[in-house]
Amino acid sequence: MANFIPLSVPNFSGKEKEYVNDAVVSEWVSTGGSKVGGFEQAIADYVKMPRAVACNSGTSGLHLAMLCAGIGAGDEVIAPTLTFIAAINPIRYVCAEPVFIGCDDTLCIDPKEVKRFCEEECQMVEGQLVNKTSNRPVKALLIVHVFGNMAKMEELMEIAKTYNLKVIEDATEALGTYYTSGIYAGKYAGTIGDVGVYSFNGNKLITTGSGGMLVSNHPDWAEHAKHLSTQAKSDELQFFHDEVGYNYRLTNLQAALGLAQMEQIEGFIAHKHQMWEMYRQALDGKNGLRLLKFRDEEARCNKWFYAVYLEDARHDRDTVLKTLAEQGIQTRPVWALIHEQADYGRNQVFGAEKAQDYRSKIVNIPCSTNLTQEDCQRVIDALLAL
Ligand SMILES: *Cc1c(COP(=O)(O)O)cnc(C)c1O
Repeated sequence: MANFIPLSVPNFSGKEKEYVNDAVVSEWVSTGGSKVGGFEQAIADYVKMPRAVACNSGTSGLHLAMLCAGIGAGDEVIAPTLTFIAAINPIRYVCAEPVFIGCDDTLCIDPKEVKRFCEEECQMVEGQLVNKTSNRPVKALLIVHVFGNMAKMEELMEIAKTYNLKVIEDATEALGTYYTSGIYAGKYAGTIGDVGVYSFNGNKLITTGSGGMLVSNHPDWAEHAKHLSTQAKSDELQFFHDEVGYNYRLTNLQAALGLAQMEQIEGFIAHKHQMWEMYRQALDGKNGLRLLKFRDEEARCNKWFYAVYLEDARHDRDTVLKTLAEQGIQTRPVWALIHEQADYGRNQVFGAEKAQDYRSKIVNIPCSTNLTQEDCQRVIDALLAL
C-alpha cells in the first residue's frame, strides 16, 4: 500500500534536538532553567502582549482562565456546542455551567444567537445578566477560534460589553491568526478578550508534546494565573500557600521544543496556506465537495485545520472516512456536539441547527506542515474519485 498520510503530525525540522539536548545537558529538565521564561517571552512577543504564562496543556490554561475570570459555583458561561470538549470541561472544573450556542459559517459561535440569548432568555438585574430559566448569573462568554479561523470578535465583543460579560478566548487552534482590517487590525486571536489560551498539543500548529500558554489584557490576571499554576506558593522559602494552587507548570524540556518550533512558525503557516490553496483549486465546487473558507478578507488565519464539506447528499460522511482510511489517508469527522455528550445533556442549547449540519457533513483532511504536494494530490484524487 502507498505511504500512510496522517491528519496532522508534528514537524521537527528545526533546532528541536539541539535545544532539548541543551536542556538535558544543563540538567534543568523540570521547571527551573531558562527556557520556560524564554518560551513565554517568544509567545508574548509574537502575539504582541507584554507577557504570557506557560502551563502544561491548553486544558489547564483554560482552567486557569476560568479561575482568573472569577467564574465560580453557580455561574453560567455562554459557550459553543461545536467544539472540542476540552474547551468546555474547565467551566465544570470551577463548578459553573455552560449554556450552549450554535455556530455560523465561520464554525465559531454565532453572534446573532448569543445576542438573542442575552436579549430574550436573560434579563439584567443590577448590572448582572441573569438567565430567566435557571435564575443563575451569566458571567462570561467563551469563544473558540475553530480550526484557526477568526471568530466574529467585532460583534461578540460588542455583545459582551452590552451585557457585562467577561470574554475568554480559546485560541488553542489559532496561534498566528490576526485581524488585518477593521477595529481590531493587527490584533491576534487570543488577545482581544479578557483572557486567551493557546495549546501546544502534538496536533496543533506548533507543539511542545503537551503545553499551553495564557495571555491576558489584565496584568493582574496573568500574575494570578502564574501563581495558581505554581502551587500558589506565596513565599520563597517557608512554603506558605495563600490559596489552592495547581501543578500546571510547563517543563524546561518542553519549552526547549517550543522555542525551536517558534523559530519556524511563519514557515509552518505559509505551508498551511499553500496546501490549502492546492486543495481549494482542486476540490472546491467539484464532485459535490466544498472546502470551508477562512475569513481571509478580514484576517490572516493560520489555516491550522482543513474542512471539506460534503455538499452533495450522495456523500455519506462515515463512508467517506472509511474509503479514505482504506487508501491510507487519515481523516476525521468534526467533534460530536457537546450538548449531546454524556454529562452535558441537561444544559440549555440554542440555535444549534447549523452546528448539527456541519457535524454531519464535515470531513477534516490531512494538513500537516510537512505534507508534500504528492501526498496532497493523493488526497485530492481520492476525494474526486468518491
Ligand atoms: C486542543 C484543544 C484544546 C486543549 O488543548 P490541550 O493542549 O490538548 O489540552 C482546547 N480546545 C480546543 C478547541 C482544542 O482544539
